[in-house]
Amino acid sequence: MADAYLPLLADFALEPAEDAAITNALASDDPWGFASTDPAEVEALKSAKDKILSYHLQRHHDQCCYCRGNLHGAGPYMTDREHILPKGKAKFKPYSYALWNLAAACKRCNMQFKGQSEAFVIDTVDATKFEDGANYLFVHPNFDRWDDYLERVEVAKGGKRIVGFEFVSNDPKASYTHTFFNLKELVMNTFDNKQGALTQAETNELGKLVLDLAERYRQRAS
Ligand SMILES: [Zn+2]
Repeated sequence: MADAYLPLLADFALEPAEDAAITNALASDDPWGFASTDPAEVEALKSAKDKILSYHLQRHHDQCCYCRGNLHGAGPYMTDREHILPKGKAKFKPYSYALWNLAAACKRCNMQFKGQSEAFVIDTVDATKFEDGANYLFVHPNFDRWDDYLERVEVAKGGKRIVGFEFVSNDPKASYTHTFFNLKELVMNTFDNKQGALTQAETNELGKLVLDLAERYRQRAS
């Protein structure tokens, strides 16, 4: 298993009560939805799930693991605890709490495109391949570095916004991810009123905005 992010999956640890709650949940028919009759265990499981989510958000700098959309401050209505091998399929239930099989995603990517699909898994039977990024057609949220394949560019100021994606690799994973999550749909540019190339004046205005923003935040940080 090649871990592509920090902090490392291997450095994650839960309290004994949280680990015990997960063990019991995994022994049930519905590991992720497991509802214990013991209030302390309910609390321990919730706490474990919260810790897992915040760990994954930290690894991806509070961004969706698939589209790089912002999840900072987005809260539970926007942020999904994503199961890469879908938890709804019986054969993948044992991985419901596997840290490598979990990530943080935006609702759009998870609900609208990912769902219960397993189309992006090359070998869906041989479990020895599940912890190998090479077994996934898309950029795996834990085993592959998203920025090695794609780049998301985003600038927002004064109600105007540019969002774009660039391929930084010819690897098929880049285009598969781009297509699977329909990243093209997220592309927008309201700095440009003419739906075409930016004029020199608009380019200058945009460049100045970015430089102003960078300078303002540099001063604030010092
Ligand atoms: Zn997303």
